[in-house]
Amino acid sequence: MIIDGKKVSQEIREKIKARLAQHPDINIRLVTISVGDDPASRVYVGMQHRTAGAAGLHPEHIELAGDISQQQLEEKIEQLAQDDKTHGMILQLPLPDHLDKDAALAKIPPIKDIDGQTDVNMGRLLQGRKQLVPCTPLGVMRLIEAYNVETSGKTAVVVGRSAVVGLPQFLLLAEKGVDATVTVAHSRTRDLAGLCRSADILVSAIGSPAMITEEYIKPGAMVFDVGVSETPSGIQGDVDFDAVSKIAGGVTPMPGGTGPVTVACLLENTLLAAQLQNALPA
Ligand code: NAP
Repeated sequence: MIIDGKKVSQEIREKIKARLAQHPDINIRLVTISVGDDPASRVYVGMQHRTAGAAGLHPEHIELAGDISQQQLEEKIEQLAQDDKTHGMILQLPLPDHLDKDAALAKIPPIKDIDGQTDVNMGRLLQGRKQLVPCTPLGVMRLIEAYNVETSGKTAVVVGRSAVVGLPQFLLLAEKGVDATVTVAHSRTRDLAGLCRSADILVSAIGSPAMITEEYIKPGAMVFDVGVSETPSGIQGDVDFDAVSKIAGGVTPMPGGTGPVTVACLLENTLLAAQLQNALPA
């Protein structure tokens, strides 16, 4: 079975559009901030904006000069933080080396932090009081829900331990109500293939093209491919789709799997942010 991220993304976006259509007088504004001119980031931001605009949100992009100082960056973020008309903010990462990402993120108010990257939102997730959580692992959870994947008591393996994907994915799968038994793997994990073969649910967030082959898969497992690598033959996920789809119960394609749902979750988070700011009725 192909787990169709485009379809699930569209369903989420249609719900958002319908909800916003009930409040034509409310303008929900989301602002993306990038530093320097990175072509890959520009493509990604463009996609975020088209999707947000089509769903009835009001996106705006601020591109700051690549040689901006830390103080200037923080002042810009603070301006947006104080602007009542800005409901969601996202700082495109990575930043140029001379800038301190953590200090910049700390200036985003947690209730406007639509990619769940601030200390407060990470801490809330850890404590079982989640509000705004990182969009990519949230997207995987939306796919799991959409395909009625059984999670309670199931074994899940997440490959990757970053703060933006792997660790929040671990917390979302392990939380009460979802109730998977989760192991996080990384580059020092021994016998990764054997560990992955124990998984009913496998999430791969490495960034190593087609590394996950059939020897990593338990027959019938549900496989979610988060990794994205640019290769000479185009965008490639971590999962060797053709080989894995013969043995898995379901697998996300790349492209068309986790990516579109990540973007839909960014919009979902923007609505939640607006709601937390009392700008949109629940
Ligand atoms: P990251 O910070 O580079 O983390 C990669 C993780 O993979 C690290 O924990 C690393 O282990 C682990 N790893 C690397 N090589 C490994 C190996 N051979 N075996 C096992 N684990 C290995 O990257 P990220 O920000 O989490 O992103 C992960 C991937 O997802 C990237 O390809 C990124 O482009 C993609 N991504 C996709 C979406 C989407 O919407 N689909 C969104 C965000 C990111 P160590 O910690 O030991 O180094």
